[in-house]
Amino acid sequence: MKRRHFLNATSAGLTASVLAACGGGEDANETQQALELEQAQGSKKRPVTTPSGPIKSRVIVVGGGMAGATVAKYLRLWGDAIEVTLVERASSYTSNIMSSLVLTGQRNMASLDFKYSTLISKYGVKVVLGDVAHIDPVGVKVTLGTGTVLSADRIVLAPGIDFDSVPGLGTSDKMPHAWKAGPQTSLLASQLAAMPSNGTAILTIPKVPYRCPPGPYERACLIADWMKSRKPGARLVVLDANPDFVTEKDNFSQAFYGLHANVIQYVPNAEVTQADPAGMQVYTGQGVFKGDVVNLIPTQRAGQLVISAGLANATGGRFAGVNVLSYASTVPGAEKVHIIGDSSATTQPKAGHIANQEAKVCADAISRLLSGMSADPAPVTNSACYSTITMTQASWLTAAFQYDTATQAMKAVPASSAASTGWNKGNFEEMGTWFKALMADTFA
Ligand SMILES: Cc1cc2nc3c(=O)[nH]c(=O)nc-3n(C[C@H](O)[C@H](O)[C@H](O)COP(=O)(O)OP(=O)(O)OC[C@H]3O[C@@H](n4cnc5c(N)ncnc54)[C@H](O)[C@@H]3O)c2cc1C
Repeated sequence: MKRRHFLNATSAGLTASVLAACGGGEDANETQQALELEQAQGSKKRPVTTPSGPIKSRVIVVGGGMAGATVAKYLRLWGDAIEVTLVERASSYTSNIMSSLVLTGQRNMASLDFKYSTLISKYGVKVVLGDVAHIDPVGVKVTLGTGTVLSADRIVLAPGIDFDSVPGLGTSDKMPHAWKAGPQTSLLASQLAAMPSNGTAILTIPKVPYRCPPGPYERACLIADWMKSRKPGARLVVLDANPDFVTEKDNFSQAFYGLHANVIQYVPNAEVTQADPAGMQVYTGQGVFKGDVVNLIPTQRAGQLVISAGLANATGGRFAGVNVLSYASTVPGAEKVHIIGDSSATTQPKAGHIANQEAKVCADAISRLLSGMSADPAPVTNSACYSTITMTQASWLTAAFQYDTATQAMKAVPASSAASTGWNKGNFEEMGTWFKALMADTFA
């Protein structure tokens, strides 16, 4: 299949193929051994995409999430004899996408778990289980927490986001963000299940830019709908640091002020300035709010590795400036480091579907650059987004972006962008198909 064809196929909704198998909870050493065995077997089986000739160049990918897993796969598919090493700190990936459905008991954590076995066996990606502690952008080297140094011709950084600390919160887990799916998601689900029937839950929304712009609003709608049957009399206070809904205003305002008006109290311009986990209170410019459950989502910045490597030169030093033709860093001297996904500063939303698309543009560009060619001068990306408005109904939004030579940025194409008017059950079902297709394109 041609590269451009692939780029378009994901956004249009790929034919759903195999959803990666579920599991988890393995010991790290056993997992690394299992990965090595998989690699050994993969090389014996000769993965379909493994080039038969000698390796011509090497790429290290840091972070095996939506962006990193996709770029690793497509570098193997499209590159000319590129050896790809993916370094990831977790033994499998936990999807953030769909994770709010764990809060309402509609999904379990195992359904969000995606393994790296297919990247290894089918595409010949070398997976190293480890935490990258340091990168040398000029020497193109990566140092693991164990002290092991890996070098390559290019590095792709895809570590996602990290959170700013919230004054007063410290290391307390009494107010989980559940904005990196994992133990905090299960914790928040159990806190909600245990809250009094007529209790109060608080959900805070940070200032933009944060990952998944519609995510907090759709989580609020989902929890509000769940409360109606499971916690009658309960209410949900949504404290938004932004002055208004940051996306899908029509649908979310109808849901907040109409459908869920008896449950949701929406407070804009309510940036959290301090937290008091002992008293279960949050302080904002709009007053002090107390809840039985507090889902406190802090402000976000690029993954720590990007910041400590001096690559966060955009958005006030919080995210990485990139050339969106190749996602190469715009820091002078660091052009051999590419940053994709939520860590990069682009005009596109911080979303899993866009992370997958950026990864393909980046894989295509690196393949070309390593072969002595130039990156595609006119990349196009697009993304679909479904938002749960109730436990069984969803709205949708699509957006397409194309490279604009005047601004050297990806520019939204209004004629190719659209949103649903309202929400329905059919959209909710399509959301499941879209998720399977996206995750299969990333991990299978
Ligand atoms: C509740 C919620 C719902 C969402 N819903 C949607 C949705 O419906 N649609 C959508 O498109 N997007 C959605 N998103 C957003 C989406 O999850 C993110 O935009 C996407 O995961 C970003 O991909 P990424 O690869 O940049 O980061 P991630 O997917 O977070 O991957 C980063 C990876 O890097 C690894 N890592 C980090 N640092 C290191 C290190 N130093 N060494 C080794 N490994 C490291 C991490 O372990 C992780 O596996 C949602 C997000 C949330 C929180």
